[in-house]
Amino acid sequence: MQETIVLYAAPGMGHIIAMVELGKLILHHYSHRFSITILLTKGFLDTPAVSTYIQHVSQSNPSICFHQFPFLSLQNFQSLSIAATGGEFIRQNLPNARDSLRQISETSTVRAFVIDLFCTSALCLGEEFRIPTFYFFTSGAAALAAFLYLPKIHEQTDKSFKDLADTVFRFPGLPPLRATHMPEPILDRDDPAYWDFLENSINLPKANGIVTNTFDGLEPISMKAIADGLCVPDGPTPPVYYVGPLIASPDGRSGGEEEENLDYMSWLDEQPSRSVVFLCFGSRGSFSELQLKDIAKGLEKSGQRFLWVVKKPTMDEKSKQNRESYGDFDLGNVLPGGFAVRNRGRGMVVKSWVPQAEILKKESVGGFVTHCGWNSVLESVVAGVPMVAWPLYAEQHLNRNVLVEDIAVAVAVEQREGDGFVSGDELEKRVRELMESEKGRELRERSKKMKEMALGALGEFGSSTLALKRFIAAIE
Ligand code: UDP
Ligand code: UDP
Repeated sequence: MQETIVLYAAPGMGHIIAMVELGKLILHHYSHRFSITILLTKGFLDTPAVSTYIQHVSQSNPSICFHQFPFLSLQNFQSLSIAATGGEFIRQNLPNARDSLRQISETSTVRAFVIDLFCTSALCLGEEFRIPTFYFFTSGAAALAAFLYLPKIHEQTDKSFKDLADTVFRFPGLPPLRATHMPEPILDRDDPAYWDFLENSINLPKANGIVTNTFDGLEPISMKAIADGLCVPDGPTPPVYYVGPLIASPDGRSGGEEEENLDYMSWLDEQPSRSVVFLCFGSRGSFSELQLKDIAKGLEKSGQRFLWVVKKPTMDEKSKQNRESYGDFDLGNVLPGGFAVRNRGRGMVVKSWVPQAEILKKESVGGFVTHCGWNSVLESVVAGVPMVAWPLYAEQHLNRNVLVEDIAVAVAVEQREGDGFVSGDELEKRVRELMESEKGRELRERSKKMKEMALGALGEFGSSTLALKRFIAAIE
């Protein structure tokens, strides 16, 4: 019988892309042994972009087969937060996941079941079907250390993290983390998402292993804490396989609106080596108009060349988490008067999706102001570009600390307590520090080293290739 590895992707483009990339990595080395089957839910976070992407992957990778569940209605739990909805949705999809595994087992030998962190309610299926079951953790070792240790942090307080503004928590292998800087789905204990995350954390060590998108040496302090068993003090830590950096191929990432005017690409080609600061804040990083004006001021005063990606601004405090950040708007209404004219030739502002990973690889790009999303971090590391860290949501504050203190390839902006606002003066200071100072030069050197390390990890005898080999050995 044909042998297959079944991957269960959580809903949402980001999660699906991550699983596809893992599937491609396995096939790159082991296509003679296994096919890949990806389980997909239907009914939550489905967008036209997702269907287009899946079609594209199916056509270009015949060894990847998608298995989509029947539609499941969200009607009964629409009042929940997005994260809690996700948790409930996945739970209710358990019978679908079971049916799929049964069907697949009829025609193939399922060698392993790999689930997204959010698909934790399907962990039991591994035991039911007697298939080795693994998590795929799409962030880095630092975030993994934090998730593994969360049950211990949970015991230290009865309060919601959002109500503990002055409290700092200590995780093994991580710089201290302020309570309010925890990922937003776990800030509030009244949100069922908190309890879902806690369950995810408790379940993580129960799997046969955790495949993680980072590479040996990138986050040495967190990796050591995990290896020493400090993050799961009450039991064994399962094997962790650092197989990254997995970076999505360009066909995977599209924000919907493509930039028609690709002037900025040829403009970048004309700029001196390492002279341009690139600013891009993830797939949904929107700012208020006030914040955009201060970014503009800071960039202008810094005197540096820049390429700045601006998503549609929002007026409210929730702007950081805004998911509707696409759509047209008038840059002229948002930027300070005369900004475009004064900065012509020195800087460019783009208001839609750009090919970030490609841009980071341009010779002229010398610094990256990033929201610290893990994919962005890895793309910058692989390109050897040092960063200014400006976290917005999810596990990004944690990533910021790690970028500055463990990986040591970034400086961080100081953010106002509460809303995270960054003044123009502060941005100017950090951008100058990165581009002009001795410290910036050191960070650039270190980034170069990290880039070499990343490429080495993926080589034939590199640590990530060997980790994947160990994973395959564990399922044989
Ligand atoms: N999400 C979740 N549970 C799921 C699927 C998604 O909590 O089962 C969350 C996810 O972490 C993110 C949001 O829902 O905060 C939307 O996911 P998407 O993939 O669209 O966005 P991304 O993770 O790429 O930002
Ligand atoms: N991205 C891009 N162009 C944009 C914005 C984002 O290519 O204009 C890509 C970026 O390269 C990365 C992903 O979108 O691969 C964002 O993932 P990340 O984990 O950094 O942050 P998230 O959007 O999930 O918060």
